[in-house]
Amino acid sequence: MTTLRIAGGRVLLPDTSVARADVLVDREAGEIIGVGDSEELPAGDDRLDAADGFVIPGLVNAHGHAAMTLLRGYADDKPLETWLREDVWPIEGALAPEDVRAGAELGILEMIRSGTTAFADMYFHVPEVAAAVEESGMRARLGHGVVTVGKDEQAAREDVEESLAVAAEFDGAADGRIETAVMPHSLTTVSRDHLAALVEGARETGVPLHYHANETRAEVDPIVEEEEKRPLEYARDLGMLEAEDFLAHGVHLDDREIELLAETGASVIHCPASNMKLASGMAPVQELLDAGVTVGIGTDGAASNNDLDAFDELRDAAMLGKLAADDASAVPAESTVEMATAGSAEALGITSGRIEAGANADLAVIDLESAHLTPAHDLVSHLAYAVRGSDVRHTVCDGRVLMRDREILTLDEDRVRKEARRRASEAVERAHR
Ligand SMILES: [Zn+2]
Repeated sequence: MTTLRIAGGRVLLPDTSVARADVLVDREAGEIIGVGDSEELPAGDDRLDAADGFVIPGLVNAHGHAAMTLLRGYADDKPLETWLREDVWPIEGALAPEDVRAGAELGILEMIRSGTTAFADMYFHVPEVAAAVEESGMRARLGHGVVTVGKDEQAAREDVEESLAVAAEFDGAADGRIETAVMPHSLTTVSRDHLAALVEGARETGVPLHYHANETRAEVDPIVEEEEKRPLEYARDLGMLEAEDFLAHGVHLDDREIELLAETGASVIHCPASNMKLASGMAPVQELLDAGVTVGIGTDGAASNNDLDAFDELRDAAMLGKLAADDASAVPAESTVEMATAGSAEALGITSGRIEAGANADLAVIDLESAHLTPAHDLVSHLAYAVRGSDVRHTVCDGRVLMRDREILTLDEDRVRKEARRRASEAVERAHR
């Protein structure tokens, strides 16, 4: 066993208290083996300096589309349906596998630089996303997003089959850092029969389902009209609301649907920035938490955010949660931090998001020596309201240091940015031809 000791900092513990402690990591097993003061723990083979720093669980970005970084700032200021049809889908239709690889690497680079150590990703050309995850050292739950509405039966079936094949092939890849899910895009963009086929395949493979649900009113109304039930009742009846399943957004939920989530144990991934930017609405986050629903946090794609800095998301979740509840005490800092760490990790079914022995060694160290983090009355408050991704000094995933003193060790940062810039402009040109 070789060990890594993260030394000299203050540590965020699972009960959201903060203690001066070192963290000892087994690098081969990728696990935390001890948290304690300097005399309690052995020296460690390698050291990561956390002096004047705050050691936190790596953030878990539980919903997104990493390769959409290629569309960052390409089309803003439009509602969801128009934006997808006029701007996003035409460009995505022009993306080659190598483009998705470049976009995923750019997204991963941005996430490592801002303290995210695990993410869920719904996209296409998933083998490319998996290759980027493997190379970068991050942890992810990946899936192929299926859209069948508007396609002929053969094309629809091919999409369904690809999603199932990818879920079976990559689950457990990259020494277990990659797991998969079957990912119908949403309850309205995939037909009932195809949803049923995806559910059956997911259960056979033993992987969860992940999909967008109740994001906009335009997505809720047709289901209520045609099925005469709420979207999550429709999902439950199709077998899509099991404890391991997680859905993105959950903006427009009624009381019965919140109850259903609590009863089934399915998780909701809150994407506050995307919901604000697309004017989708305000998710009832405090109500979900009060009902005992597991809530995680996601950035969604860079085209609707426009960055993958999860610290922005913590701040947005806290602020928007208060507005939605009309109560300044709603969604307090502790809840926000828990959602982005343990909540998201639980939604993804990974043992990350907590600094304690036995958990995955997925960590970030925040540098506290800056004007906007001074003074430090309450470090949990700082995480929710004041820390920025650029304050992250080191990022560790699975016991491996991915960024040390802001230098990325697993990816060539200049190459990744250059490649993404070139491929993004070529894809835009192709889409307009
Ligand atoms: Zn999304």
